[in-house]
Amino acid sequence: MSETFTSVSQEEAGFRERARLSFDLDADICVIGAGLAGLSIALEAARLGASVAVLEGRHIGWNASGNQLGTVMPGFALPLTELIERIGFEDASELWALSKEGAELVRANAAEENMPDIGLSDGVLEVSNVDAGDRLISRLQMLNEDFDTEVEGWQVDRVRAVLKTDRYFHGVYYPKAFQVDGRKYVHGLAALARRAGARIFEDTPVVSIDHSGIRKRIVTPSARLRASHIVLAGNIHLGAPLRRLSETLLPVWRYAGITTPLGERVHEIIGFKGSVKDSDGVDHFRIVDGDRLMWESPETTWAARPQRFAGSVKRRIRSIFPELGNVEISETFGGATGQTVHGMPQIGQLRKGLWVASGFGRQGMNTSAMAGQLIARSILWGEERWKLFSPFELVWAGGTTGRVAGQLVGMWGRASSAAAGTLARYRERARVKDREREARLAEANRAAGTGPRRLPSGVRPRVAPQPQPAATEEVEPVSQENRQENHQENPQEQGVSQ
Ligand SMILES: Cc1cc2nc3c(=O)[nH]c(=O)nc-3n(C[C@H](O)[C@H](O)[C@H](O)COP(=O)(O)OP(=O)(O)OC[C@H]3O[C@@H](n4cnc5c(N)ncnc54)[C@H](O)[C@@H]3O)c2cc1C
Repeated sequence: MSETFTSVSQEEAGFRERARLSFDLDADICVIGAGLAGLSIALEAARLGASVAVLEGRHIGWNASGNQLGTVMPGFALPLTELIERIGFEDASELWALSKEGAELVRANAAEENMPDIGLSDGVLEVSNVDAGDRLISRLQMLNEDFDTEVEGWQVDRVRAVLKTDRYFHGVYYPKAFQVDGRKYVHGLAALARRAGARIFEDTPVVSIDHSGIRKRIVTPSARLRASHIVLAGNIHLGAPLRRLSETLLPVWRYAGITTPLGERVHEIIGFKGSVKDSDGVDHFRIVDGDRLMWESPETTWAARPQRFAGSVKRRIRSIFPELGNVEISETFGGATGQTVHGMPQIGQLRKGLWVASGFGRQGMNTSAMAGQLIARSILWGEERWKLFSPFELVWAGGTTGRVAGQLVGMWGRASSAAAGTLARYRERARVKDREREARLAEANRAAGTGPRRLPSGVRPRVAPQPQPAATEEVEPVSQENRQENHQENPQEQGVSQ
């Protein structure tokens, strides 16, 4: 089948009548799950000429894939330095290059002629919660020189010129990262896959698979399917077809809210047009629809209704941008991401003809596109680049205990990020005060006509004993205001736990 790029109509991209699989079917490839991962594989495989059937238990993009922000960056959920530590520089560099290819695939899919009104715009800013200028330089060098990724370092002043908050310090600007309407993209992808020849069946949960023979059998409540290859792209909800696989993922629900229109003032306070993410992965936001703020922050390891988090999104916005005042949240959404123990996605062949593509965590746009290409090309062309993911085996996520631990680790991460941020801001204020005091002292000396006095040689100056700072002295004393702020930053206080 030839690679055709025809545009997706509104009807195709939006809701259409759902087709359920009600008859037995044969296909080359059966994909389980119509999220970003399943549809990316279906699209790539259909473009390469395979007959593909996608079976979706509910409807296209009902979980994370249809409820996400649409920011597309290179890399993985696992930070680059940890990736290098884990597998070495050479392999990390190849994986990074694959992740960039994934981002470019998304860009090509989301081109105006394929997905009109998808709202593609360039530029993502990653900001630091702490004053880490020295670390920034080595990160920039590594990305630019070793990983061939265009990035710009922004000094604190430049970051604060576009984001009116003292919460953020330095920034890394990715001019080639971009964003699309995250909630529409998955429907555009489904339409492109259909155009390429893939068949998508919704309301069709897969209840069991038999992957032992050359032709594998897939069972749904009302029909059976036979295929040479099965791709498991069900994320945390896969369940019965291979329960052991679902158990290697720690489910993390993420939630986001959109404010009511905020008018011109939002542009005075947030002058950056693209997505902003903080380097600790706590907040992620951008302006949408002209003057509304879309903000992702809360997370849990248990399912909850996104509406419950309107208050905590609101408080997060107020604590970062107090000048915005009291904003109203008019919409909330969210979904479950699958987090692996090692932080890297699960991509590869479990046994002959049985493939897996899941565990994309919080960074699923570029990585699922990349997985689609790797798996489709391996099945149809015999490429073996997916083997770069072999060091990241399937590791049990710890069941309920793992979830509790995950929640605690998440809370600890957020709390320590908040504490580090508070400390960094305290140091910054202390430096300003020091400079002011020195300037006042110099001014007073000038006025009194005194300069530093020379002592006769051999006479040592007497130094007044300085009080020794206690180990904890650098930490800002907790004022009522801070106490309130820290209180708001603690996810448990945001009603995160069930
Ligand atoms: C609030 C939020 C914001 C995010 N923002 C971004 C962002 O800006 N950029 C980014 O890169 N990533 C982002 N992500 C992460 C991204 O959304 C996910 O990594 C990605 O959507 C995962 O896709 P998936 O296809 O693996 O899983 P899913 O979206 O969960 O899709 C899996 C599908 O499989 C189906 N399924 C499961 N089991 C079966 C079965 N047995 N039979 C049939 N069907 C089955 C499910 O019904 C589901 O539809 C965000 C996530 C959230 C929640």
